[in-house]
Amino acid sequence: MESEQIEKVVIIGSGPAAHTAAIYAARAELSPVIFEGLMAAGVAAGGQLTTTTEVENFPGFPEGIEGPALMDRCRAQSLRFGTRIFTETVESVDLGSRPFTLRSDSRVLRAESLIIATGATARRMDIPGAGDGQLWQRGISACAVCDGALPIFRGQALYVVGGGDSAMEEAGYLSKFASQVTIVHRRDSFRASKIMQQRALDNPKIAFLLNHGVVEARGDGRLQSLLVENLGSGERRELPAGGLFFAIGHLPNTGFLDGQLDLDADGYVVTRPGGTQTSVAGVFAAGDVQDKTYRQAITAAGSGCMAALDAERFLAHG
Ligand code: FAD
Ligand code: NDP
Repeated sequence: MESEQIEKVVIIGSGPAAHTAAIYAARAELSPVIFEGLMAAGVAAGGQLTTTTEVENFPGFPEGIEGPALMDRCRAQSLRFGTRIFTETVESVDLGSRPFTLRSDSRVLRAESLIIATGATARRMDIPGAGDGQLWQRGISACAVCDGALPIFRGQALYVVGGGDSAMEEAGYLSKFASQVTIVHRRDSFRASKIMQQRALDNPKIAFLLNHGVVEARGDGRLQSLLVENLGSGERRELPAGGLFFAIGHLPNTGFLDGQLDLDADGYVVTRPGGTQTSVAGVFAAGDVQDKTYRQAITAAGSGCMAALDAERFLAHG
C-alpha cells in the first residue's frame, strides 16, 4: 500500500483553494496529486460551494453560476493540466520529517511539499433536543440549500439561527418553500454584507427575532416547536416550528493534523502574514482552513494560487 514514489506536491481538499493550487502546480510541471475527500467532514468533494445554489460574486460569470457547476469546472481544469485526483479522505499525516507521509484508508503517499486546503464545516448548536438521535435531521439541519426543498419543510414556519451572509442567504432560499422564515439572531445588528441584509429585509416572507436565542428544540419524532429566549429580559416562549436551520459559522477541518501544525484559538491553521507558509517548512495552507476573515470562493482561490507558488519556490530553493 505504501508508495515508493515521492510526490513533489500533494494537495488535500477539493474547494476553490485546492483546485487553484492544482492548476498552478500542474502548469509549473510539479505533477500534483489531490486528495479530494470522500464525504470528508460531511461535505461532497467540491467543498462548501456544492451546498449552495447561485454564486453571483465569482468574477467571470456575470449571470452567476450554480455552486456545484463552478466546482465541476474547477475540477475539470485541474484534470486538464494533468492533476491526479484521488477520491479519498486523508485520515492522518506525519509532518515530523521530510518527505511527509499521508494516509487515506487505501493508500500511503509521500510528499516533498504539502498544501492543506481542507476548508471548514458548518457548526451546529449544542441545545437540548437538537443532538444526533434526537431531532437532528428530523427537522433540524445546518444546510438549507441541501435540505430546504424536502417535503417536510414545505408550507411550514421555519427558523434560521445566525446573523451572517449564510443566514440571510438561507432564509431567502427557504422563503421559496416556507409559510414564513424567521431569522433568530443573538444581537440587534448583523455581520452579513449590506446587500444580503437588504434582500432579507425586503423579502415579505422573512421576519426577524433579534436579541433572541433558541434554547431548546421540541417534538415527538420530528421538530414541532422551539423554545426561544429574549437574551435581554430572559423571557422564554414556545413557538411552533416546522424546521430549524443553523447558519452560525464554520469549524476549520484540521482534526487530521493531530496538532502537528500551529493552529489559532479557533482551530484555524496559522500562516505567515502575507504568505501561505505554516509552522512546518514545506507545508502550506490555503482557503477557509486558514482564513476566518474573508472566507469567500475568490479569496480561497487566490490563496490556493499563492500556496502553489510558495510550494514551487520551496521546492526550487528549499
Ligand atoms: P471548502 O470549500 O471548504 O472545501 C474543502 C473540502 O476539502 C471539504 O469540503 C472536503 O470535501 C475536502 N476535505 C476536507 N477534509 C479533507 C481530508 N481530510 N481529506 C481530503 N479532503 C478533505 N463564497 C463566495 O465567494 N460566494 C458565494 O456565493 C458563497 N456562498 C456560500 C454559500 C454557503 C451555503 C456556504 C456554506 C459558503 C458560501 N461561500 C460563498 C463561501 C465559500 O463556499 C468558501 O469560502 C469556499 O468554498 C472555501 O473554499 P476552500 O477551498 O477553502 O474549501
Ligand atoms: P459568519 O461567521 O459570518 O456568521 C455566523 C453568525 O452566527 C454570526 O452572526 C454569529 O453571531 C452567529 N453565531 C455564531 N455562533 C452562534 C451561537 N452559538 N448561537 C447563536 N448565534 C451564533 O458565518 P457565515 O456562515 O454566515 O459566513 C461565513 C463566510 O461565508 C463569510 O465570509 C460570508 O461572507 C461567506 N458567505 C458568503 C455568501 C455570499 O456572499 N453570497 C453566502 C454565505 C456565506 P455574531 O454576529 O453575534 O457573532
